[in-house]
Amino acid sequence: AAPLPMEALRADFPILTQSINGHPLAYLDNAATTQVPRQVLEAMREFEECERANIHRGVHSLSQRATDAYDAARATLKAFIGATGEHELIFTSGTTEALNTVAQGLWAAGPAEAWLRAGDRIIVSGLEHHANLVPWQNAARMSGAELVILTPDAEGRLHEAGLATLLAQGGARVFAVTACANATGERPPYEALLTLAKQAGALTVLDAAQVAGHAIPNMAALDCDFLAFSGHKMHGPMGTGALVGRREALEQLYPLRLGGDMVEDVSYERAIHAGLPMRLEGGTPNVAGAVGLAAAARFIDGTGRAPIDAHLHALREQAAAGLASLPGVRVLSRASSAAALVSFTCEGVHPHDIGTLLDQAGIAVRTGYHCAQPLLDHLGVGPTTRASFALYNTADEVERLIAATARALELLR
Ligand code: PMP
Repeated sequence: AAPLPMEALRADFPILTQSINGHPLAYLDNAATTQVPRQVLEAMREFEECERANIHRGVHSLSQRATDAYDAARATLKAFIGATGEHELIFTSGTTEALNTVAQGLWAAGPAEAWLRAGDRIIVSGLEHHANLVPWQNAARMSGAELVILTPDAEGRLHEAGLATLLAQGGARVFAVTACANATGERPPYEALLTLAKQAGALTVLDAAQVAGHAIPNMAALDCDFLAFSGHKMHGPMGTGALVGRREALEQLYPLRLGGDMVEDVSYERAIHAGLPMRLEGGTPNVAGAVGLAAAARFIDGTGRAPIDAHLHALREQAAAGLASLPGVRVLSRASSAAALVSFTCEGVHPHDIGTLLDQAGIAVRTGYHCAQPLLDHLGVGPTTRASFALYNTADEVERLIAATARALELLR
């Protein structure tokens, strides 16, 4: 792929031009939140200034235009994710809400009708962010199902054979896995794992939060019933995201948000739920957010997924090699080349101290457990320092990260 036009690209992100603690900002916390380009802000501003009204509720022209803008955003994002007629896309406030919509939706209809019942098994990978674990812990508690963890090996890898063994024990109704572990950068063989689980009759759930900005999978090519992603991790607005699902699977979900817009007919005693997608989108949605999220998808496709992915791959390799060459530094999931992040530990030094010294050099990274405490405990590594990349990051910034980490280690040891 041709190299990205870095200067022009960076000019779309005004936030990057500032200094932090006397140094140019090197923003390397993209796995937590990416920055938003002018194109997304302009799309949202235009909606707010010219089309803002409540959707699906008015016969008036502005309401119709707002509804059209919302529907167009849905269509853009469905194309972005490779959804077909078999699929539907539900707007959510992010990955967390999308995963809760699935987990809660599978028990909340009650024991007579819900997909999950006492004695069933929910298999969740051991690589997950708390957002793809805690809702399943609760689903198990509320339905009487058993939560079973697909345990990673000592290097933090998942294996098909491990899942096959669990599935052979029977009773699996759900399998949930991430497309990339945010705490380590591990990229599990999720395509094969989803296929195995699907063949065993489970509903399959993919957390695509960490890949939405550069390597979003094609929904139609996966044995995937539900896929979740967040807008703010793909250069879109905060508080936006989506749940994409196979229609049949989405029909299994009891709505998380009950109220206006998600019903067809209501009496004092009972309500008849509307059809998809509205059934799962109760209340007034974040329409400007949906418009901004669609603009972010267009921005990514306009820039080109292949060049973005190649760029991030190069930055990751550069960072992983440079950091691993420092004394006492261990890079997690070193071989996992699909990730846009490097998570590392430094013998005898706490990540918070490294993060603080990096910040003094203008370099933003994240330190701690990254909302994936069970995984880091399982691996016996504890908290880590994580640098994560987006399309506007440069090789120069990665050099600064490596040099500043080396200096921090000298100071702290
Ligand atoms: N899953 C993964 C893999 C993540 O990295 C994150 C965000 N750190 C989430 C889920 C939760 O996303 P959000 O906070 O946008 O709901």
